[in-house]
This record gives sequence, C-alpha cells and structure tokens, in this order.
Amino acid sequence: MKKQFSEQDFHSMPLTHLTGALCKIMNVQAPKHSEGVNEPLCDYVMQQTDGRGVDRVLMFNPDAIGTYTYKKYSDKFDIVKQYAPFESDMLTVFPPKTPVCFGSMYTGASPEVHGIQHYEKPVIKIDSVFDALIRSGKKPCIVAVKNSSMAKIFLQRDMDYYLEDYDNEAVTRAISLIKEDKYDFICVYNQEFDDVMHRSHPDSKRSQKAIDHYNASMQLLAQAVKENWKNHDTLIGYAPDHGTHREWYLLGQHGKNIPRDMNITHFYGVIPKQTN
Ligand SMILES: [Zn+2]
Repeated sequence: MKKQFSEQDFHSMPLTHLTGALCKIMNVQAPKHSEGVNEPLCDYVMQQTDGRGVDRVLMFNPDAIGTYTYKKYSDKFDIVKQYAPFESDMLTVFPPKTPVCFGSMYTGASPEVHGIQHYEKPVIKIDSVFDALIRSGKKPCIVAVKNSSMAKIFLQRDMDYYLEDYDNEAVTRAISLIKEDKYDFICVYNQEFDDVMHRSHPDSKRSQKAIDHYNASMQLLAQAVKENWKNHDTLIGYAPDHGTHREWYLLGQHGKNIPRDMNITHFYGVIPKQTN
C-alpha cells in the first residue's frame, strides 16, 4: 500500500529538473549543467498538445508560496488551477533562499554549480535556460520588481529586462508584452507574500491578501495569453521558489532544511493554439 504523504515528508522531484522539462517541451537543447528532466510535466504537455510541445512559455514566479501555504489555503488556488491544473510537487534547493532557488530553477543546476549558496544576488555566469533559448533563436525576457533576485541574477544576457517598481507594475508590464506578441518566453516575478510574511507571518491577514493578489495576477496573465497568443501553443506556469515557516510567535522566515521551507508545488497549464 502506498504510504500517505504527510506534512513531515519531503517532496522527491527536484526543482533542478524544471529547466530540463521547459527545454524539452520547447524542443530546445537544455543548458549545460541542467541535472535532469521533470518527465511527468513533459508528459502532461505532450498530451495536451498532441505531441507538438509548446512554442511559448509564460512563467509567473510568486515568491515564497510553499506547499504548506497552498494546502492551507487551497480554496484560494481554484482560480490558479482553472488555467494551470497540472500540479507538480517539487523539492527546492538548500538553502531555500530566493536567489539560490531561482538560480537553480532557471539553470537546472544545484547551488554549488551555479554559485549562489546564500542570500546574495550576483549575476550567474553558468549556462541558463535564457542562454539556451537565445541559442535556439528564441526571445526570452524577464519582468521583475527592481532590485529583486530575478531582476539581477540573470542579467548580462542578450535579452530584454523590464524592472518595475512593484508587483502590480510588473504584471501590467507583462500583460502589455503579451499583447505585443514578440517574446517566446516571459518570466514575471512578484514578491508581495514574501515581503509581508517577513514583516508578520505566513498566516497573517496581510499574507492571505498577498496570496489573493498573486492568484488574481495569474488569472490576468493567463487571460492575456488566451486572448493574444492564439497562434501559439503556450505553457503557463505558477512557479514559486520556496516555502516559509514561523517559529513560535516570531516573524515568518525561510532558509531551513524542513518541509515547510523546502516543499513547493508548481501549477502548469497549456493554452493550445486555436485552429480555425
Ligand atoms: Zn523567495
């Protein structure tokens, strides 16, 4: 009999296998240090596209939503699942700090290999999914809150970066870029939940509001893809970097090798090309 998953267990699919999957479904050669492929995600995408794969990807990166938060407030995620019904439980990398995790999410490499092993934001020098896309003639871009990890660690590539004041501005920018229809791969980074849970805790009223904001933004982005990328097969992803926890009655935090910080759940959906 299969053992029931408990909150004490760690997920098994490594976050480092995401880049390999994103490349495989776009028919792009994976970056050099990519460790593996999230095959169930690829299978899902292939099944949804009759084996074509996708030519566009829209990744929404809401900071700090762990599996714990998703399960606790699962009702809030119905709107995410409406567009991205495929859930992929993953184990993020250690230490579960923002630049460490996004470094691995988009290089497919462990922190020892990409070089960010604590909270610092240098430009990653090793091969990334962005480099792999550019080599294949695809156009990626990053839309992020300025000074955030995602605004910094993948700089210095021959691609466009849109660094905005805060989450709303980043989402508004991303929607206008989706309408412009010129990028093949857009990453949109938002951070409100991480900000407010550090100032309060992961279950505070403001944190719960931040989840609502993230999930409403996912809906807006997915809707924009649906309306404007009709000639493309698109993968849309809701892809957080790590979870969070609270000790005693202190502030929210993350950085420990515990399931609440390490277990994340990504959501993916395919918006297929509309043939008429
Ligand atoms: Zn983070």
